[in-house]
Amino acid sequence: PAHRPAPAIHPVGHPAKHANGRAAGRRSGFDYLIVGAGFAGSVLAERLATGLNKRVLLIDRRPHIGGNAYDHYDDAGVLIHRYGPHIFHTNSKPVADYLSRFTKWRPYEHRVLARVDERLVPIPINRTTVNQLYGLDLDEAGVAEFLKSRAEPVADVRTSEDVVVGAVGRELYEKFFRGYTRKQWGLDPSQLDKAVTARVPTRTNDDDRYFGDSFQAMPLNGYTRMFESMLDHPNIKVMLNTDFDDVRDEIAYDRIVFTGPIDEYFGHRFGKLPYRSLTFRHETVDQEWFQPVAVVNEPSEGVPYTRVTEYKHLTGQSHPKTSITYEYPSAQGDPYYPIPRPENQELFRKYQALADGTPDVIFLGRLGTYRYYNMDQVVAQALAVYARLEKEEQQSRGL
Ligand code: FAD
Repeated sequence: PAHRPAPAIHPVGHPAKHANGRAAGRRSGFDYLIVGAGFAGSVLAERLATGLNKRVLLIDRRPHIGGNAYDHYDDAGVLIHRYGPHIFHTNSKPVADYLSRFTKWRPYEHRVLARVDERLVPIPINRTTVNQLYGLDLDEAGVAEFLKSRAEPVADVRTSEDVVVGAVGRELYEKFFRGYTRKQWGLDPSQLDKAVTARVPTRTNDDDRYFGDSFQAMPLNGYTRMFESMLDHPNIKVMLNTDFDDVRDEIAYDRIVFTGPIDEYFGHRFGKLPYRSLTFRHETVDQEWFQPVAVVNEPSEGVPYTRVTEYKHLTGQSHPKTSITYEYPSAQGDPYYPIPRPENQELFRKYQALADGTPDVIFLGRLGTYRYYNMDQVVAQALAVYARLEKEEQQSRGL
């Protein structure tokens, strides 16, 4: 609108630009420059545009929106997830309600099998797992007794190994967790924070669902369609194939929201925060189905990949062919997982202190806050940041 004042320019980290004032006269500025079009950036872009009528420029260095949740139809016409399987699950009604504005859902409960001793058995370990592996026919109480007799209580539970050995004993720990964890993280479970496996339950009943959340579903037409609907707003401009460095000095904006790696923002000044990466091998197979469930885990260290995903189980798509993805963990490549170790948290806190001293930039998301967050937690984080910004806006207007 014509009455809008020209936005104040804060060329963050580039005081020279402020001095020469090159950008300062522009009237076509944005209220927010949001870096990263994944859940964190896209949710905040939608909220700011819709709720506060802010003008938002949303950029991503990748050629697509959706971040790691991006899905697309491959050459055979099968809907696949480019960055590995993403299953939506949450206990937060506000998060589910919010996303439901942008998509319908397909009810889906995730089930995973692990290849152990040449068999495919349910993981998390449950009654079926124990009975199949040991050729038994125990009832619930029997399984509880069995696991108790094998568990090796650990006085001071600190690591992932302590958690699992304490719950199910060393043998099941080695069959299901040790090899998988070593491959996934490049570290032995004894070197990893207990939080990594604390979220994997053990059950004595027949419940073979991977998650216990109250809301478990997949976006009916896929994640990318949901993101498209979220970003379909006249106040939001999306620029793809665009790195933050390409535009940080070229475009006028008031504030930055940064959802990329926080250490990258600060030029890795204290050293690189460790992230674990993955290589995905996507394949189409000329048969209708490949495996009995969406995900089969391969805990054996003799197999180089950690798991195989068959997407049609997730999406409900009918197709005469099927597409699958093998995941190979690696140290190099895109940053996917913050590595949960105390020394990494310490390094992160140094970056967080820098971030606290840079109030014009809001750090958000899995990489921006170096947290091993699921999609719903990232949505909740973005909604919480929005609530704070909305309050600030109301206060500044004297409301
Ligand atoms: P991202 O999705 O990573 O988005 C960040 C974006 O910022 C990226 O697109 C990146 O290209 C862009 N970017 C970064 N730096 C720059 C820069 N300098 N300039 C421009 N752009 C930049 N969660 C679940 O809830 N359920 C699951 O089943 C699940 N499975 C997963 C499986 C895998 C293999 C992985 C890796 C993650 C999984 N997650 C799952 C977690 C989920 O992917 C994240 O919670 C979610 O994607 C985080 O959103 P985000 O916006 O924080 O980050």
